[in-house]
Parts: sequence; C-alpha cells; structure tokens
Amino acid sequence: MTAKDYTAEYQTATLPSADYVASFCDPVRISGYCRECPSFGKMWACPPLSFDARARSACYERVLLVGTKITPCRPMTFDDGEGFVAAERLAIERRLLALESMCGGWALLFSGKCLHCAEACSRAAGGTCRHPEMVRPSLEACGFDIEKTVREIFGVTLRWSKDNMMPEYLFMVSGLFFNGDDVVW
Ligand code: SF4
Repeated sequence: MTAKDYTAEYQTATLPSADYVASFCDPVRISGYCRECPSFGKMWACPPLSFDARARSACYERVLLVGTKITPCRPMTFDDGEGFVAAERLAIERRLLALESMCGGWALLFSGKCLHCAEACSRAAGGTCRHPEMVRPSLEACGFDIEKTVREIFGVTLRWSKDNMMPEYLFMVSGLFFNGDDVVW
C-alpha cells in the first residue's frame, strides 16, 4: 500500500472540556455498545477503565479534537486497507502523545485493536500493559459519543462498511484534554 491508495484529511476543533463532557459524554449508553465488542475487558485501552474518565476530564479546561478522514482511492476490503489505516493511526497517536508530554495534558486515542503488541494483549491473562507510555483509552472508552461528535462538531456523516468492504471513507476522532495556552495541531 502507498499513499496513492488513499487520501487523509484532518480537521480540528477546540472547545471547553466542560461543554464537551456535558453534551457528548454518555457513559452508561456508550459502555453498553462497548460491552458488545469482543475486545471489552481484554485490552488495556478498552473499558472497563480503572478510573472515572468524566472526573479526569474535569481536571482540564479545554479539549482539542482531531478528526481524520481516510478515503480509499478505489474499492477495497478492510484487509487491503488495514496497513494504511494502522499507519495513519500510529502517526496521529505519536503526535498526540508528543503534545500530551509537551503540555501536560491527557491524550485520548483511537478505538479498535491495540497496535503495539504482535502477541495477545496481556490484560486477558491478568498481566500489566507492556507499553503503557503509548497506550491511552479512546474517546469511546471514556463514554464519548463519536457519531454525535463527528456529525455535530465536524459536520460529517459516518459511513458504514458492508461485506468487509471499506466504506467510501473512514472518519476517526482522537483528542487531547489540556490546560493553558492553545495547542496547535
Ligand atoms: S501495548 Fe500490548 S499489553 Fe498494552 S494494551 Fe496494547 S496489546 Fe495490550
């Protein structure tokens, strides 16, 4: 796969974290969806979390949301697109973790399979995370409604896959809670 196989576009929005929590955080409903996922309780970035995400987000004044739209350049299966989606995820995660480290914030990354271990996640076997410096929960894991975030904040309608084919585009959301000066993406 090469960059010619897809395009990636980014949108950002910064808003008061209290407003984002009040309008977009619905942990009871969202955790109901997470419970249906096979990864529930089996990866460290997935729920159930060991802390109260709403209380933790309240420690920060604002949140930077980063929307990533990945558009395949031709019809392809998820297996075909797996490599470039993973590469985009990892690049954005690295950038958010660098910003987190720089401003003392709290990054929330992507849902889906953790990309940092080739072997099975240690959580199911009762171990500790092998790469805690790189692993953060997703916004969904913290109870945020991503469909509503995509629609109301980024003005985008999510597209869904069928028969293992990638949809017209994927739209993923990650974020950084922070205090102090504006964070420039
Ligand atoms: S880095 Fe490894 S141990 Fe940690 S959550 Fe990811 S798969 Fe699990």
